[in-house]
Amino acid sequence: MPLTLTIEKNVPLQPYNSLSLPAQAEFFCAVGSLEDLGEALNFAKKGQLNVTPLGGGSNVVLSGDIAGLVIQLNLLGMSYAIEGAAVQVTFAAGENWHRTVITTLQKGWFGMENLSLIPGNMGAAPIQNIGAYGVELADLFHSLRAMEVATGKVVTFTKAQCQFGYRDSLFKTQCRDQYIILDVTLSLTTEPQVNLSYPALRSAAEGHANYPNLTAIDVSELVMAIRRDKLPDPLNLPNAGSFFKNPVVSAARAADLLLRYPDMPHFAQALSQVKIPAAWLIDQCGFKGAIRGAVGVHSQQALVLVNFGGGTGQQLLALADEISTAVAGRFAIALELEPRVYGPC
Ligand SMILES: Cc1cc2nc3c(=O)[nH]c(=O)nc-3n(C[C@H](O)[C@H](O)[C@H](O)COP(=O)(O)OP(=O)(O)OC[C@H]3O[C@@H](n4cnc5c(N)ncnc54)[C@H](O)[C@@H]3O)c2cc1C
Repeated sequence: MPLTLTIEKNVPLQPYNSLSLPAQAEFFCAVGSLEDLGEALNFAKKGQLNVTPLGGGSNVVLSGDIAGLVIQLNLLGMSYAIEGAAVQVTFAAGENWHRTVITTLQKGWFGMENLSLIPGNMGAAPIQNIGAYGVELADLFHSLRAMEVATGKVVTFTKAQCQFGYRDSLFKTQCRDQYIILDVTLSLTTEPQVNLSYPALRSAAEGHANYPNLTAIDVSELVMAIRRDKLPDPLNLPNAGSFFKNPVVSAARAADLLLRYPDMPHFAQALSQVKIPAAWLIDQCGFKGAIRGAVGVHSQQALVLVNFGGGTGQQLLALADEISTAVAGRFAIALELEPRVYGPC
């Protein structure tokens, strides 16, 4: 079969990242098949180039040019098997996440609805174990296949092997930059069920005409409405969603903070830990709506940093640093960035 791969040099990445940050890829290609991906990896190996996989670019901060080869994963396709009520569906890495949610709901398969409208592609979903409204990828995950960058070998990872945690996985830790995810298999069900465990979703559901008999499609629509209301659309106001992870502290530390800040929202976690919304901490430090030249903090959502137009990754990271320093100074809590930074930090 003739190879279709085109590798370009010095490609602007502004159209490929949801923060619309200016940066160039030293080399860039888009791959639509495993053969193309294999060829791209050979090219990188021969030139001793770093490889950077790219999906929808909605969870990256480009603070400078990317040396080496940026590979946009455009692998497409879906296959599935049904046994009783259990559905196992496999989506290729380049499938748009939200479109896969809608496809499964249209087929009467349930489980993904709380994760409606999360930007990006299937291949990136396991990297940070995406989550929203009381559900995370790990809850639906069965397995994935990935190509090892160094060898081109295709390997299957089970759920246990992926070591999913809060916005975390093996692919952000021990296996960082070592694999390119090719496809992801999810376990869904044809049995109608809804998960309204997340407080804001439950309140919205209680106001719905179908309550308490909401369908998964109702839940998906509610989640979309809440998200549209709360989060800026990157097409109108470039952003990468949450810029910081919600910090998790010990129960003792949380109790200490609650003595001083009785109104502090907090959520009990496993192992006597407590999650504190980073947005609340940032808001308390007065950053909601802060503007620093071409970048700033969204006026309604303190966790979302935005590029008003013409901003750079360096400017955004300087603002993130200012915020982290203020939060550390006031609450003695270290904030951690959620998106992956490429270029100087
Ligand atoms: C408005 C907005 C709202 C958001 N809301 C949420 C939310 O509710 N919950 C949540 O968890 N996230 C959220 N995000 C973050 C983002 O949507 C997710 O992290 C998403 O999974 C990123 O997908 P992507 O394809 O854009 O990844 P990219 O930004 O392209 O890549 C992210 C990282 O994954 C790596 N990567 C991408 N594809 C592959 C692959 N195939 N193999 C190996 N590595 C790969 C990249 O190298 C990079 O390090 C939001 C973002 C925005 C802009």
